Amino acid sequence: MTTRTASPTPQLAATYGEARSEILAAGARAGVDVTAFPHPSPGRLGEELAIDVLTAGPDEADSVLVIVSGTHGVEGYAGSALQQWWLDEQSRTRPDDVRVAIVHALNPVGFSWVRRVNEDNVDLNRNFVDWTSPPRNDGYGEIADLLVPLEWDEATQEATTTALLEEADRVGFGRFQEIVSSGQYAHPSGIFHGGSGPVWSHRWLARHLPEIVGSARRLGIIDLHTGLGPSGHGELISHEASDDPGYARGTDWWGKVRSMRDGESVSASLEGDWLAAIEQWVPDVEITAAALEFGTVDTITVLQSLRADAWLHAHGDPNGPQAEAIRSQVRAAFVDDDPAWLATLIERFDGITSAALAALTAG
Ligand SMILES: [Zn+2]
Repeated sequence: MTTRTASPTPQLAATYGEARSEILAAGARAGVDVTAFPHPSPGRLGEELAIDVLTAGPDEADSVLVIVSGTHGVEGYAGSALQQWWLDEQSRTRPDDVRVAIVHALNPVGFSWVRRVNEDNVDLNRNFVDWTSPPRNDGYGEIADLLVPLEWDEATQEATTTALLEEADRVGFGRFQEIVSSGQYAHPSGIFHGGSGPVWSHRWLARHLPEIVGSARRLGIIDLHTGLGPSGHGELISHEASDDPGYARGTDWWGKVRSMRDGESVSASLEGDWLAAIEQWVPDVEITAAALEFGTVDTITVLQSLRADAWLHAHGDPNGPQAEAIRSQVRAAFVDDDPAWLATLIERFDGITSAALAALTAG
């Protein structure tokens, strides 16, 4: 039993505002530096939105570990709780020569509105593409109107879902997942839309990630996600192919890392994820990066929530009578409010961050 004043057990916040208060309070308890980067829009409840960067460790460190939450808005509820846990439980025992930067709510609008996407209905992890020739996904176009129909009454949901499941049967589930979720650039009100140019959070990363890295020559990144895989299971996903050196370092640090390029992962192979873009901003830095993806519910339940959310924001009223039920549906697809689920995540996250810090301090 520990006798030191117990840190608060991390909680899954009910709102973005609550999550932000909790992370800032944890930062104050840990005595770390905090810099807020306000978003130009207010949140759903009128609150100020920001990316907060909480930094522990020396400015001149050779190694830096960056832990990011809320790339996919709603997934930040779990990510924020894990970051809070890190500040309370690991920041003091961090190796002296490693700097750690907690990036809280990379997509604060999605976090506040309980959406995976951002203020432009854009999936941030489909936004880092070559904008002179964005990827094509013609298969998406063929089912775009089924995925996000004009109406969202029970009869329409049933008819479109049946048609989509038939399509999944016809092409095979793996191919279906790829068509739906690998990203699309032609249907701005659809799901997994990559946008039409760099969005606010993209521009923020391009500008500020080099500052966060500073003079460090070794960079570890853990980008926290939820919504794919078996409940509570935390899969490390690399954007690199399994013969890339960054992937090899990841397996040295963490053991099993799955490459989505090689079809090993629960994620479809996709274009435009931000981890694949950072090399250009911090050349000459040795980068070891992975998404840590925690499972919640099954893929179809997640998909249904994303369809409902896209409909609400494209054709419904995000402040109307159906909105709360849809937000609850989305939250339930990406966050499990059972404390046992969060406890499982913490255990895995503890192992991942400890291993990263040990590797980064080894020199
Ligand atoms: Zn995600």
